[in-house]
Amino acid sequence: MAKAIQEDAARLNRELYARTGVSASLAVVRVGANPASVRYADQIRRLFNTAGVGFRLVDLPTETDDRQLVATLTSLNAEADVSGILLQLPLPPAVSPDLAAAAIDPGKDVDGIATTNAGRLYLGRGRFFAPATPAGGIAILERAGIVMAGRQAVVVGRSAIVGRPLALLLLARNATVTVCHSHTRDLARLTRQADILAVAVGRPSTITVDMVAPGATVLDFGINVFDGRVVGDVDYLGVVETAGAITPVPGGTGPMTNAMLLQNTVQAALWQAE
Ligand code: NDP
Repeated sequence: MAKAIQEDAARLNRELYARTGVSASLAVVRVGANPASVRYADQIRRLFNTAGVGFRLVDLPTETDDRQLVATLTSLNAEADVSGILLQLPLPPAVSPDLAAAAIDPGKDVDGIATTNAGRLYLGRGRFFAPATPAGGIAILERAGIVMAGRQAVVVGRSAIVGRPLALLLLARNATVTVCHSHTRDLARLTRQADILAVAVGRPSTITVDMVAPGATVLDFGINVFDGRVVGDVDYLGVVETAGAITPVPGGTGPMTNAMLLQNTVQAALWQAE
C-alpha cells in the first residue's frame, strides 16, 4: 500500500513538473541531533530521492533559540521552491514547539502540526493537511476495503500527532468513535466493542488477545524497542488469529507514515501551483 501511494505521488509530481516546471520539495527542520529524528530524516531522504521529490535538511544546532528557529521557518515559508516543511519533534527544551509550529505557513505544514490545519481537521472544513501517521492509518483502512461508516471505532491514545487526529478522521468518515487514554477505566471492556481498534500508546502489549473482538480490524501505531526488537503496542502473535486484519510492527503503519508525508508534500505543491 505504501509503495502504491509513493508511486502515485511520484507520478503526480512528474506531471506537475511537465506542466509547470515546478517540482515538489520538502524542507526538514531539525534542532539538535535526537537519534530517532536523525533516523527518520534519513528514511525520508531515501524515499523522496527515489520518488524524484526534492528534499533538504536544515540542521540547526541544539543551542538554537526561539527567535532563530522562527526566522528559519519564516524564510522557508517565503521560498518558492519549498512546498512542504516538516519540523522534527521533539525540540530541545529551550525552544517552544507551539511558537515554532505557529510560524509555519499552513499551506506548507505538511505534517499538520499547526493550529490552522488542526482547526480545519476539527471543523471538517476547507483544505487541510492531517498529520501523516493517522492519515496513513485511514489510507490503510480505505485500501483494505474496511468500512468505517457506522462502525464502532476505538482509539487508544489521544496525542496531538496520532490518537486525537485519528479520532477526528474516523469521525469524518462516519465511524462511531470512542477515545481512550491513561485515565480510561476498564479499557478492555471498551476495546472489545471495537470493529476498528487503533492503538497509539507507546507501551508493548497494551492490547492482548482478551481485549480484541473476533474479526476486529487492528491498527497498531506503537513503535517500541523491547528485548532488542522493535514491537508495537499490540501483542501481535497473540492477536493475529483473533483479529480480522492487523497491521504488523515493523512494516505496517510506519511505512505508511512516510508515504503520506510524500503524498502531502506533492499535494502542497499542487495546491501552490493553483
Ligand atoms: P504519546 O506519549 O504522546 O501519547 C500516548 C497516549 O497513550 C496518551 O494519550 C496517553 O494518555 C495514552 N496512554 C498511556 N498509557 C495508557 C494506558 N495504560 N491505557 C490507555 N492509554 C494510555 O505518544 P504518541 O501518540 O506520540 O505515540 C504513541 C506510539 O506511537 C509510540 O510508540 C510512538 O513511537 C508511535 N508512533 C508511531 C508513528 C508511526 O509512524 N507509526 C508515528 C508517531 C508515533 P494520556 O493522554 O492520558 O497521557
